[in-house]
Parts: sequence; structure tokens; C-alpha cells
Amino acid sequence: MNHSLVENLEKIKSTLPASVTLVAVSKTKPISDIEILYQAGQRIFGENRVEELVKKHADLPHDIDWHMIGHLQSKKVKKIAPFIGLIHGVDSMKLLEEINKQAKKNERVIDCLLQFHIAKEATKYGLSLSEFNEFLKSKKFNELTNISVKGVMGMATFTKDEKVVRKEFQSLIDISKIVKNQFNTASIISMGMSGDYLLAVEEGSTMIRVGSSIFGVRK
Ligand SMILES: *Cc1c(COP(=O)(O)O)cnc(C)c1O
Repeated sequence: MNHSLVENLEKIKSTLPASVTLVAVSKTKPISDIEILYQAGQRIFGENRVEELVKKHADLPHDIDWHMIGHLQSKKVKKIAPFIGLIHGVDSMKLLEEINKQAKKNERVIDCLLQFHIAKEATKYGLSLSEFNEFLKSKKFNELTNISVKGVMGMATFTKDEKVVRKEFQSLIDISKIVKNQFNTASIISMGMSGDYLLAVEEGSTMIRVGSSIFGVRK
């Protein structure tokens, strides 16, 4: 048994204000690792691949709150729709419509975060503010009865330059205010990973997604 996982978890939690929720990112890690943290009281786990998420959901206690944190393909939504707790990376109308459709089929409302593009890297997914404004104007957006927009998500540029990272986090804070003006349910700001969660929390994150600092580096 690897008790250092629990130590890692407790150490990170001890640095967090009560207002910040910790998502333990367990992607690529074995069921046995998740069980250790579950025994220690952790209930929120994040995964970024649908097949892995479905398998882990089936194999682990059903009071785990599973978060989908990675890019989600529309055709795979139906596999996680029955149980997913929060989808972090929603960045297209097509995906919203599919989540809404599958949520209806499962007679539930699915909580989503809108992912915004805040980093310099062109490879990272996410909406721009102008795309968000287009969403708001479209009739389809108002017909999403089975989606609850709970907030925003973003990833900063992978760099050691603190100033750049802080600036990007601040831009997500600004965006979150605009989104909250439209959806009063949208209070979550999901930003911060192993390398930058301390900065993210200082800038106003309410939810951090931490993997390697808890579980160790991924292969
Ligand atoms: C993998 C991943 C994380 C966690 O990354 P670490 O650097 O291991 O903490 C957070 N967010 C997303 C979207 C990820 O894909």
C-alpha cells in the first residue's frame, strides 16, 4: 500500500482555503490508488478518457463524484451521461446539445463548466468570449433544459513565467464574472493543476484539478 498518496493529498488540502474544492486527477492510475484515497475520505476524482472513466466508475464505490476533465467527443457522451458529476471541458454547441440530449434520456440534469481558451498555446481547447456571446444569442442555447452551467474552466500556458500564468488566470476570473451574469448557478472557477494550483488559488480559483502532485508522475 502506498500511504504517501494520502500524505500528498493531506498536504495539498492543508494549503487550500475551505472555498476551494480539490479534484484528484486519477487518469492512468490504478483502481488501487483511488481506493487508498477513497478510504482517506476523498470523493471527487477526475478522468480524461471516457473508456477509463466508465471502467473505473463500474469498479469503484458509487458515491464517488466523477468529473470528466478532458476533451469530450460528442459521440462518447452517452457512455458517461448516466453517472457523470461534472463535465469540465464543454466548448462547443454541438457538445452542449449532445449532453442535453443524453441527460434527457437519463432523466437528469448534467452539470457543466464552459471551457475558455486563456493560454497562448494554440493547441488547447476552449471558447473565446465572442463565441460565448454567439451561444447566448442562439435559440438552441436557451433550449438546453437538461444542462446546468455551473461555471468556467481554463488551463494556463505551461511555463515557469509566473506573470504569464497569473495574467491568464485573471482573464478567466474576468470571464467568470461575465458568465455568472448570465447564469446565476455559475459560481465554479476550475483552474489550477499540480504545477500552478497555488497561483490559481491566489488568483481566485474555486476548484483545482491535481494529478501528479498526489499520485506521482504519469508514465
Ligand atoms: C491531467 C490533467 C490535470 C492534472 O494534471 P497534473 O499536472 O498531473 O496535476 C488537470 N487538468 C486537466 C484538464 C488534465 O488533463
